[in-house]
Amino acid sequence: MLEERSAGTILYQESPLGKVYLLLNYPSGHWDFVKGNIEKGETFRQTVLREVREETGITDIDFVEGFEDKVEYHYQRDGQVIHKEVIFFLASTKTNDVVLSHEHRDYIWLNFNDALKKLTYKTAQKLFKKVKDLGFES
Ligand code: ATP
Repeated sequence: MLEERSAGTILYQESPLGKVYLLLNYPSGHWDFVKGNIEKGETFRQTVLREVREETGITDIDFVEGFEDKVEYHYQRDGQVIHKEVIFFLASTKTNDVVLSHEHRDYIWLNFNDALKKLTYKTAQKLFKKVKDLGFES
């Protein structure tokens, strides 16, 4: 089976109404956090910094220490089953404006409950709920 590995982040900013989280609309239709393939020689965090910059134009991100988790799934490409692992961090930004690349259709900043509903995949929702379990979201 082919193996694929990406790294990404749950990215939030403080808004007047509390924390809002960034979701992207992927070309295949799903809504998920910012992520992307790990390039050779990169640490997971370096991948996240690069992908956030490339996919959103955001360059100021602060990692929340102590949060690192993994989402796993299988999908098919050209008749091949691919096992994918995505390492996720939690990070904040002070930037509100997002400049999308051609890799995504749309973006949205949502509060925790709305973001949880918007996420397409159960695996991503499960990851996101751990942010609440941390006591990070009151
Ligand atoms: P990357 O952002 O890592 O470069 P990508 O845009 O190439 O990724 P994915 O977002 O991993 O691709 O999507 C590849 C396939 O896997 C799509 O068919 C998508 O619907 C499916 N997929 C994406 N995330 C999940 C998930 N959490 N659980 C199950 N299937 C998923």
